[in-house]
This record gives sequence, C-alpha cells and structure tokens, in this order.
Amino acid sequence: MSMVWPCPLAAGAYASMGRAVQVPRPQCPSCRVPVVFWSGYWRHVRWQQGVERKIFIRRVRCRACGVTHALLPAFTLARRLDAADTAGVVIGQVAGGTCGVRPAAAAAGVPYTTARGWVRRFAARAAGLAVSFSALAAELGGEVVRPLPDPLRSAVAAISAAFTAAAGLPGWAVLGRWRFASAVTGGSLLAANAISPWLVIGGRRFMPPRSP
Ligand SMILES: [Zn+2]
Repeated sequence: MSMVWPCPLAAGAYASMGRAVQVPRPQCPSCRVPVVFWSGYWRHVRWQQGVERKIFIRRVRCRACGVTHALLPAFTLARRLDAADTAGVVIGQVAGGTCGVRPAAAAAGVPYTTARGWVRRFAARAAGLAVSFSALAAELGGEVVRPLPDPLRSAVAAISAAFTAAAGLPGWAVLGRWRFASAVTGGSLLAANAISPWLVIGGRRFMPPRSP
C-alpha cells in the first residue's frame, strides 16, 4: 500500500536530495501506532516539459501488523510517471474549457495519448470525486459546492473548494490543489479505483502536514 505525505518540496528539490529527504514518520493507518522506516526504492517521476528524474521513496513497516507502506511525496501519483501537477493542469484546462486535450498536452509537454488517458480516467471517476471532495470541503468548513451539469467541471470545482478549505490549515497551502488532491486520495486520484478522500481522512491513509 502507499501513503502520501504532504511534501513541501517541489519534485526537482526532492530529486536532488536523493536519499537525504527528511520524511516524517507516520502512524500505521490500521493500528495507529508509529511505524519504523523499512528501506525504500527508486522510481522515476516526470514533470515540466518532460524533465524526468529518479527519486527515492521511503518505505515504512508497522511492527504490530507487519504491513509495509511506501511514503509517496504529494507531487507524485501512485503508479504514474507524471507528476500530480502536470496531470492536474491538463485536467483543469480541459474541464474549464480553456482548450482541448491536444493543446493541453502540447503545453504540458506530454504525449497526447497520455493526456487523453488522464482526462478519460478522471472523467470516469468525476461524479464520485465531485461528491467526496464536496463532502471533504464541507467537513473542513469550506463552501458548499453546488453540483454542475458537467461532471468533469464539478469534480475540479469540488477539489478546488476542498483545497481552499484545507489551505486555511497549517502546511497545506504550499501544495496547491493537485498535490493536495493526491495527498488526500493516497495518490489514487487517477487510479482505476480512486480511494475516497472521505474514507482516507477517516482511516488516515494520508499524513496531515506537521504543525510548525
Ligand atoms: Zn499496523
């Protein structure tokens, strides 16, 4: 399983630090006891016009239940090469009617088929994401999001509303809405089975930023 931590570093800074990134130690989401660091692995991440670097992902293990978790930084998505912001910007542009998928892909420097895949996956989950992020926005004391006729636009509006509400809490504002969305869905924003941020918050599969 993976957990996403609200890493304040941008992808480039994180990559440059190699294994030296200070990752906060979470609790096991099931047992609610502190976990221990348990090695890690290298993976690739691509951002900004095709810049691709290797990053080190820490793993943790719960001594109580034996489950290990990968601690993904919030600029990543689980099992996706491209950064959360890259995919999010494309989705936001298409949902907002700024442009179609092809120019959005060109602007982001990603293949058209990749961008089309993000938009399709997001669209397939848009209704559920709209509901759960609206609920999250309300839970965080944010504005009530009115459903829009277009599910894609509705989902983006709900994510924005939840982020605006979360940005009032310490540590979240720096992430921006797409890294926030990755954090609270455990990196599953574009996964086949997106984890509801509602459930994630209840089960704490994400890690809230540390208070200063
Ligand atoms: Zn455990």
